[in-house]
Amino acid sequence: MSRYIATSALRGARNVTREAEAWLQKALQEKGKDAKVAFPNTAYYLPTILGLTGQKVETVGDLIPVMDQIRCYLHPVPAESRWTPYLGETLDAGIATLLAMETVQALRYLFGDQPEKFPGFRLAQKSESGDGGGYLNGPIDDIQLRSWGIQLVDGRMPGFAAIVGCAKSNQVAVKIIRELQRRNILTFLAGNVNGRSIIHQLHEEGVEMGYDTYIVPFGTDTLSAIYAIGFATRSALTFGGMKGGQAREILLYNRQRVFAFVLALGEVDDLKYAAAAGAISYGFPAIADTVIPEIHPTGVTQYEHVISMPFNEIPGKDDLERAEKLVQRCIEVRGVKIKMTEVPIPVPYGSAFEGEVVRKADLRFESGGKRSRAFEYLYMAPMDKVEDGKVELKGPDLDSVPEGGAMDMGIVVEVAGRKMQEDFEPVLERQIHHFINGASGVQHVGQRDITWIRISKAAYDKGFRLEHLGKILHARFHADFGAIVDKVQVTIYTDPASVNSMLQVAREAYNKRNTRLATMVDEDVEEFYSCTLCQSFAPNHVCVVSPERVGLCGAYSWLDCKASYQINPTGPNQPIPKGQLLDPVKGYWSGPIEFVQQASHQQVQTVSMYSIMENPMTACGCFECIVMVIPEANGVMVLSREDPSMSPAGMTFSTLAGTAGGGLQTPGIMGVGKYYLTSKKFLSADGGFKRVVWMSSILKQTMAEELKKAAEYAGEPDLLDKIADETICTDVNDLVKFLEEKGHPALTMDPLM
Ligand code: SF4
Ligand code: ZN
Repeated sequence: MSRYIATSALRGARNVTREAEAWLQKALQEKGKDAKVAFPNTAYYLPTILGLTGQKVETVGDLIPVMDQIRCYLHPVPAESRWTPYLGETLDAGIATLLAMETVQALRYLFGDQPEKFPGFRLAQKSESGDGGGYLNGPIDDIQLRSWGIQLVDGRMPGFAAIVGCAKSNQVAVKIIRELQRRNILTFLAGNVNGRSIIHQLHEEGVEMGYDTYIVPFGTDTLSAIYAIGFATRSALTFGGMKGGQAREILLYNRQRVFAFVLALGEVDDLKYAAAAGAISYGFPAIADTVIPEIHPTGVTQYEHVISMPFNEIPGKDDLERAEKLVQRCIEVRGVKIKMTEVPIPVPYGSAFEGEVVRKADLRFESGGKRSRAFEYLYMAPMDKVEDGKVELKGPDLDSVPEGGAMDMGIVVEVAGRKMQEDFEPVLERQIHHFINGASGVQHVGQRDITWIRISKAAYDKGFRLEHLGKILHARFHADFGAIVDKVQVTIYTDPASVNSMLQVAREAYNKRNTRLATMVDEDVEEFYSCTLCQSFAPNHVCVVSPERVGLCGAYSWLDCKASYQINPTGPNQPIPKGQLLDPVKGYWSGPIEFVQQASHQQVQTVSMYSIMENPMTACGCFECIVMVIPEANGVMVLSREDPSMSPAGMTFSTLAGTAGGGLQTPGIMGVGKYYLTSKKFLSADGGFKRVVWMSSILKQTMAEELKKAAEYAGEPDLLDKIADETICTDVNDLVKFLEEKGHPALTMDPLM
């Protein structure tokens, strides 16, 4: 342990504590001790303070005991003559720093000083309410945290990087970001060096920042870096089922499961040292691109690391190569697991580009949408009929389409493999969306014959042509589905006659698949499938996935699980033989019960497939919707993850999710995938779809057709008009009044409880 670091960190901790005290004094004087203090859209109060101290801060006054605790963590700056290690003191100073930083940021919110104003800035995120221009991101909301959760558990997103400071040049800044994006590492940005931040650099270079590009600009000061720690703390609370105040568990959880590191660009000042000391307690090492003293593993813990990698001394032919090596080193230090597929195309590739939008002004070419038609179709062919790696374009290429123009197109993928089954065709076909979207400058929307592909001018200028769509698919199907797919051949049709004839073939296949899916019922199969992917976050959670009940994240259907079991026989999706049927109405089988007992480590004794009232399935945290009983209405409400408004249960999605998650069984509350709402087995033991009395309007809009069918099946074709939503009421009394006016069937059904 270096005395230099210890001294700087202790000094930094003292300064930021004084700053927090000053803000608190100001808040007490100007706003009073009852003034509300909160970060937006989180159920976790001030998350770092909640996690590390157990205090649920809601008002300015609640911060007074927090300040006392911060002071307890502060030790004197080491004297010149002292030679003993200062590790304990330094780590304590780090914790004090994090608590003080969060205190300051929360009070800045109170004074309208956060999120930071940044003229001309616009966040890249679809869910943005209002125009969102002119401000940086601020803390990440709970909804986004959960939606990244599933990517973190299934390995699509290996971890996060917190970058603090300013890179040597704009080009280096962009290169560092691109290297991280290429590996799907989530990147948080904060801090500055002499007033200039990497956020300025990226903004000047036109790099899109926001949730959709995995680059989240917190603020241009070091204080806003606390939002990264808040995110890490909430991961442990949300997915690890930890409670506020379990500081040790939360820190260990992060050390073991959250692959994160701090990259300090440019000069490291006292506050940065102090914050880095805090990050080390979370197991996050700090790497600096300047000369600083290093901390090596002491044996006490694995990751007590401060690494110095002076930028100009990194071997490499130019700054861009040095930037690449810097990122590589960060990943090695923290041991981030990276799964990367080389895709031979002329533009950058990675899931970080999946959310990218190709705007009208940047459009070179599109197929699908209003002006043309695109479709995609994947089918299984005999081994000897498929030539692996062959990509053929039948018809004209992009060069013959004027700028901004459109053309019909069909993408047909033939796959062969000894373990391939016809049932896997739709599972693989659906991947085309992710695979193609990974190319920078290419946007993919929809599937089947409502596919819509847009290609940007920038991608075209770099040499992207239609054959590259095929190259992407070939590389990714091999990389991700190599266990069931041995050969992949792609044909891209743009010549109008063959587009039309292939489209007919594809449509016949879509229809056949629809019929097969619609007739596939729980009764007809021998086995259900488990999904325990989320156990890395919620250690006792198990999804039991059946043909009529999709996993609660919405990402795993029965067929998906079946395919995944073929790909990885020892993986998270295992067949569960149904065993003996114990209760056909509530959905009890001996097989799932035994499986859940064992896989939940005896935390869950029994599980019903079709009831919310009796032994419902557990929830991990990544559910698309929450279904919850509203006793006054004798029915249930369905609250979508995308709905930020208040619900008749008196809580928002974020707050409710805190009660429903963590792998617990909660009668009356269930996390579900949204397509389960349309299943004939939805709450079938409790009265089915007719029980729904309130539903987020976004579900009504986006699933109108499917829900209408469910209503018809329930024998209430007008049911949707009788179901309230947040535009009608968010209060239970108003809800009951509305239901009475409309004559909702739930009011006269058997009592739920
Ligand atoms: Fe997690 Fe269940 Fe989805 Fe599997 S199906 S990823 S366990 S939510
Ligand atoms: Zn989950």
